Amino acid sequence: MSARVRPGRGAILSRQALRVGPYEVELVRKNITRCHLYVRSATGPLLVSAPARMGVGTIEGFVTAHAEWIERRRRELGASGVARGSSGRDHMRADGTVSLWGVPTDALRVLDESGIAARRARAVIGSRGGCASLEGEERAQVNAALREAMRAQCRRRAVPLVRTWEARMGVSAASVRVHDTVSRWGSCNLTSHDVNFSLWLAHYPESCLEQVVVHELTHLLEGPHDERFYAIMTRYLPDWRERRDLLRRLSRGA
Ligand SMILES: [Zn+2]
Repeated sequence: MSARVRPGRGAILSRQALRVGPYEVELVRKNITRCHLYVRSATGPLLVSAPARMGVGTIEGFVTAHAEWIERRRRELGASGVARGSSGRDHMRADGTVSLWGVPTDALRVLDESGIAARRARAVIGSRGGCASLEGEERAQVNAALREAMRAQCRRRAVPLVRTWEARMGVSAASVRVHDTVSRWGSCNLTSHDVNFSLWLAHYPESCLEQVVVHELTHLLEGPHDERFYAIMTRYLPDWRERRDLLRRLSRGA
């Protein structure tokens, strides 16, 4: 005699390792009706619990849709990735200036934290194309204004670079997104062909952003980081290593 025991709600039916964009995911299947996402450490794998029969594509979409939240949680948990956290202080020099495209000038200067509201600061930044004063009522507003200014800056340069390199390399990205990510400078979804960049790339010389653009587009020609991948990189951007090393050096403050 055998009894077919139906596992109860919450019981783990299976475990599976998955890679979603830049994330390692530990996927557990349960008798549940919705997906749940857990960020347990700054750099370790994410934990996703999903309904028994939910398709992997749906689960990947669920994780991708929460990228910004994941990055925020990781930062809170003490991420020490290559990019710094998004607290404005980390991105500001002692004299209140912020490096923009590798130029440590007062391109974005926090003049006075007790000054005008960040909403106005954003408008000022927009109207002068990045060479403007950044003023905010509170640190949080300054940080938010800084982040949005850097996002706009990054987008403004990343999109044309992607278009230029798409044409040169004969590939096509489905979309270009700029996120507040700290654990990766860029990522590429091999299924959807979306390419993503960290808005904090706007701190460093444009040659560094260009290296990340070519890297992510190379993934559309060769998925893994294998010999062929780096041969393609070298064919299109012979000095990619120097650019990558420069970004590493600068982002570590060396
Ligand atoms: Zn890569």
